[in-house]
Amino acid sequence: MLKLRDLVKHHPTGGGEPVRAVDGVSMEVRAGEMVALYGPSGSGKTTLLTLVAALVAPDSGAVLVDGRDISILSDAEAASYRLHELGYIDQAFELLPGGDVIQNAALKLWVTVGVRRGNREVAPMLERLGLGERLCHRADLLSMGERQRVMIARALSTEPKLLLADEPTGNLDTQRSREVLELLREVCRERGTALLLVTHDPQATAYADRVHVLRDGRLAEVDADAGPLTPAVAALAPTLTGAITGTPSAPSAPPR
Ligand code: ADP
Ligand code: MG
Repeated sequence: MLKLRDLVKHHPTGGGEPVRAVDGVSMEVRAGEMVALYGPSGSGKTTLLTLVAALVAPDSGAVLVDGRDISILSDAEAASYRLHELGYIDQAFELLPGGDVIQNAALKLWVTVGVRRGNREVAPMLERLGLGERLCHRADLLSMGERQRVMIARALSTEPKLLLADEPTGNLDTQRSREVLELLREVCRERGTALLLVTHDPQATAYADRVHVLRDGRLAEVDADAGPLTPAVAALAPTLTGAITGTPSAPSAPPR
């Protein structure tokens, strides 16, 4: 479903050496699969997602979605890809000024199926996300955790085949984080959605089918100086051991 091939993106630093934010990343997310990309702050996670969302073009490499290279789309094609094919839970929390929870969550559906139907269709997901009591509240007056869940409902609303999540539990307490991660995993399995979740929270990786570790823009190999990341992450879930050692964690694990 999603294939990244040798993806490279530099950021200018205003005079100094450009930062290689994404440095030769190749990976894959299959339909119905939840893949976590775990890395510390500054490791290139958000940059990688903006490349997959076709918001930014890579310096080299390809982003294949169902075999189509979305890194070479025109602006209009990229906007249509984001509207119809992609769900992107980003960290910007862009709200409709003065809009209520339903309206904010239904924004994409307004464009694809119209306002009335959009408002109707988005409500059950908001309820699943624990916002049933808040449907008519102004979204810009909600707590950050509630806003984050409105953004999750918006990203899921169009039933995208590819879902990107940038620290989707960053503003949630432990219990709510668990619920949201379980919900994301469930929805992806139900719908056959490919989910790429980036996080610096080791707990979040435990929900993924597979985990990659990103360090300084590169997928980490087994190495002696992996530092405290490796044991801390490896202890969390059997899937991680495979990601870090490069070997499947169980004999039945699919080849990668
Ligand atoms: P993460 O999401 O893992 O915290 P980012 O992708 O945001 O990492 O950043 C990766 C690196 O690229 C960091 O060193 C960051 O400072 C740099 N960076 C990110 N965005 C920009 C930008 N727009 N301009 C310049 N440097 C950037
Ligand atoms: Mg980030």
